[in-house]
Amino acid sequence: MKRLLLLLSLTLGPLGAMPKLVLPTENDAVTLQRPNDFFMYVDRSFEGESSKPWEAGTYGFVRNMKRTKEGVIGTRFHEGADIKPVRRDENGVPLDPVVSIAKGTVMYVNDKSSGSNYGKYIVVQHNWGEGPICSLYAHLNKTSVEVGQEVAAGTQLGILGYTGVGINKTRAHLHFEVCLMLSLDFEEWHTKYLGVASGHGNFNGRNLSGLNGVDLVIKSQKDQISSIQQYLLRQQSYYSITVPAVRAAKLQARYPWLWRAPQGGHRFTEITFTASGLPMIVNPSDREVSEPKITRLQSFMGRHEDRTIKRISGTGRKAELTESGKRYLALLLGEE
Ligand SMILES: [Zn+2]
Repeated sequence: MKRLLLLLSLTLGPLGAMPKLVLPTENDAVTLQRPNDFFMYVDRSFEGESSKPWEAGTYGFVRNMKRTKEGVIGTRFHEGADIKPVRRDENGVPLDPVVSIAKGTVMYVNDKSSGSNYGKYIVVQHNWGEGPICSLYAHLNKTSVEVGQEVAAGTQLGILGYTGVGINKTRAHLHFEVCLMLSLDFEEWHTKYLGVASGHGNFNGRNLSGLNGVDLVIKSQKDQISSIQQYLLRQQSYYSITVPAVRAAKLQARYPWLWRAPQGGHRFTEITFTASGLPMIVNPSDREVSEPKITRLQSFMGRHEDRTIKRISGTGRKAELTESGKRYLALLLGEE
């Protein structure tokens, strides 16, 4: 019996684990070393020169270029991948089916072109045993699933399009993300800081913090990654923030795997983030703080605000949380 169970678990993998993922459209040029055929360019004008770099369609600090002491860097973070269509009709309207990257449940369908920068978009939640992990598909022309629907890897969700802000028919693309959910009370936070509910609930893009979804898909296909935890641990950290341990309770309940050290008994907790604010790892800390405090920081010759979505200001070791940084922590951790 034991042997049978072992055999079964080898065949199926651990229950709820991250499976091999599929790309969200037919475009697979990224796996063929043709990134310029995969990522949609942006129309860039920098220091008097116009260009159409495909790199601006990749994930990361790839937009709003600035000349700094570290050279020319992108200061605006692009939280997903912009994937080019491979099929268009005679009028140039894209026809590519957009599919779910894995088995999951459709949690949100925004079927209106207005009311979100994402235009028409869909969020699918995946049960990989790691808390709420979502994939997001934006700028769709059509949606073809309903909230609550179970989908498989490859199930069609809609058609690639150009709804939303900053996009047109020529630059039609799928904006694709794989995300952690920052809060289970997003509208409360949104109403407090912006005076009104966003209307998209916890599936508002601002509540979904994206990791590099295309990279995740490719690494899962090559058997290099089998969990989000493993993926995040391989990312580069940028800053750590120490908070009283009680403030991290909600985050711990949602993503317990962020904790690598034994828990209990300690009064302070240090959370380590990527530059874009994804929590990567959480540890007990001996440092006593009465409010969130930066306790580690990557060295960077320029201004930290250019590398942290303006959540941290200052240069070198002189750095502090901005108001935006404090609001971000209030979203992630809940209010004090
Ligand atoms: Zn995008």
